[in-house]
Amino acid sequence: MFKTIKRIIEWCGTFKKRLYIGFIFSFFASWFAAMPTMVAAYTIGLLVDSQMNGTAFDRKWIWLSFVLIALLVLFRFLFDYLRAKFQETISYELVARDRLAIGEALKRVSLGYFQQVNTGNILNSITTGLHTLENMGMRMVDDFVGGYLNFLCVFLFLLFVGPVVSLIALGGATLSFCFLLLVSKYSKRNAPVSAKATEDLTAATLEYVRGLPVVKSFGQGGASIAAMRNACKDSKDIHMKIEWGYIPSNCLHLFALKLASVALAAASCYFGLTGEMSFSMMLAFLFFSFSIFASLEPISDSAHILGVIDNAMDQLEELKVNNFIDRGGKDVPLHNHDIEFRNVDFGYDERTILHDVSFHIPEKTMTAIVGPSGSGKSTICNLIARFYDVQNGSILVGGHDVREMTCDSLLQNISMVFQNVYLFNDTIRNNIRFGNPEATEDEIIVAAKAARCHDFIMALPNGYDTVVGEGGGTLSGGEKQRISIARAILKNAPIIILDEATASIDPENEHLIQQALTKLTAGKTVIAIAHRLATIEHADQILVVDNGHIVQKGTHSELITQRGLYQRFISIREEAELWDFRDGMSGRNVRR
Ligand code: ATP
Repeated sequence: MFKTIKRIIEWCGTFKKRLYIGFIFSFFASWFAAMPTMVAAYTIGLLVDSQMNGTAFDRKWIWLSFVLIALLVLFRFLFDYLRAKFQETISYELVARDRLAIGEALKRVSLGYFQQVNTGNILNSITTGLHTLENMGMRMVDDFVGGYLNFLCVFLFLLFVGPVVSLIALGGATLSFCFLLLVSKYSKRNAPVSAKATEDLTAATLEYVRGLPVVKSFGQGGASIAAMRNACKDSKDIHMKIEWGYIPSNCLHLFALKLASVALAAASCYFGLTGEMSFSMMLAFLFFSFSIFASLEPISDSAHILGVIDNAMDQLEELKVNNFIDRGGKDVPLHNHDIEFRNVDFGYDERTILHDVSFHIPEKTMTAIVGPSGSGKSTICNLIARFYDVQNGSILVGGHDVREMTCDSLLQNISMVFQNVYLFNDTIRNNIRFGNPEATEDEIIVAAKAARCHDFIMALPNGYDTVVGEGGGTLSGGEKQRISIARAILKNAPIIILDEATASIDPENEHLIQQALTKLTAGKTVIAIAHRLATIEHADQILVVDNGHIVQKGTHSELITQRGLYQRFISIREEAELWDFRDGMSGRNVRR
């Protein structure tokens, strides 16, 4: 508990001063909250005193106490407002900073990280975890620090006016603190369990939503929702069990405080009746005894939430201090854009996928990578962009080992165009501008024209302002592809990695995409996972990959004469294109 509070205070960094000033306001706010009861009780005591002793009672005192109470209430709210103003905005500022920091950190980790950590975990940390910190962090620290500070002052005051009463108060507070430690221990133990249940639920929901198209097409609603239903049930069961577990120590904490209040009230009565305390003072103490622990009562909630916050902060740290793939990398300006693999071995896990792969791609040439499905073509491309690090050997871009460079410095030289395009749920303009955030409107339009997408964009009711939906869901596959090419054209990177579109694209779209790609790749170092014969035949170099080995290397005219995988591959492609074309041209059997 104390560790978490210290941790939150440290987390406040440059905002610490505001936090401390907030504590002072909070302290005054709780005093002003307690004083009206004292004033009212004292006034009633004076009134009863005068009635009993037959002395005159100055009626002005009643009006004065009303005014005083009104002022105290006003001050209480003023100090509460100031506390909130100084303290509560701190967490919003810090959490916004941390969310961006996590975004930056995630850019710099190996993609393998996302296989080890599920998306639910990351989402949960960024949303639910940080939301708890944002919403409750400052308040919980304030409740705890302010609560005990307040009690300390009350205790010193009591010590001055009635040492016995003060000892009763101290006993109650100490006993309740012991139970508070139980709450805190329980919370610390269960916060990770609760977070894990929420993560699993988030992951199951995401999976369900992502898989909905498949679910609908196979009519398997019942089966697919089972995982989500289980996650919901587990989450409910776990959270209910945890909440039930809190009840005993929570109750004991409150019970100790209430018991101390009763003991205080009894002691006040005793001292009042034995004449050791004036009647008005006794009455004031009697009333006060039920509000004296008001600042300590909500602390059991703080102890509970602080455990959750501690866990959220652990997750935050974990995400921020990720094993950055480019730790120690430098910003290296490249003067040429050759690419070289030197004896590269690589596997995503224990299984080796690439075996002793070596090749050289001179800059401004076009290299086609061909090979059977699963042979390692995409893996080669992912390694050039350093989405993963190799296990053996090295990859050089522009003569520099990619491990010497930061991800940003490497990737600013590379544009990737995939078959499965991802567009952001934003306007078409912003999706294209993603390639170059500084681009002007004219540059965006020039890129869109070059990528053959300007015409269809202008035909949309909102043109470039059209929002494309998550993943670009409101556009066709070909349209998305051309927008992604426009984005790459705007980036104007010297190295282009391309996964050629195949059967999913209709002939008209394919023609437009080819035109767009021609614009994109002119004068660049191009590595294409090639499917079209035209691309393969015109490549300056062809790498034939089989089962993670480069089995053939050369130009089309060199390789076509050799017996081997390439020959077989080409004849299969020729067959396929013949059939594709027949299909596209409604039965006309003509080879392109
Ligand atoms: P395709 O033409 O079908 O896209 P490919 O030649 O591009 O295939 P890769 O995607 O490079 O093949 O995959 C090579 C091997 O690595 C496959 O056996 C695949 O199962 C495996 N693989 C790919 N990605 C991962 C990953 N993220 N984790 C584990 N194994 C992977």
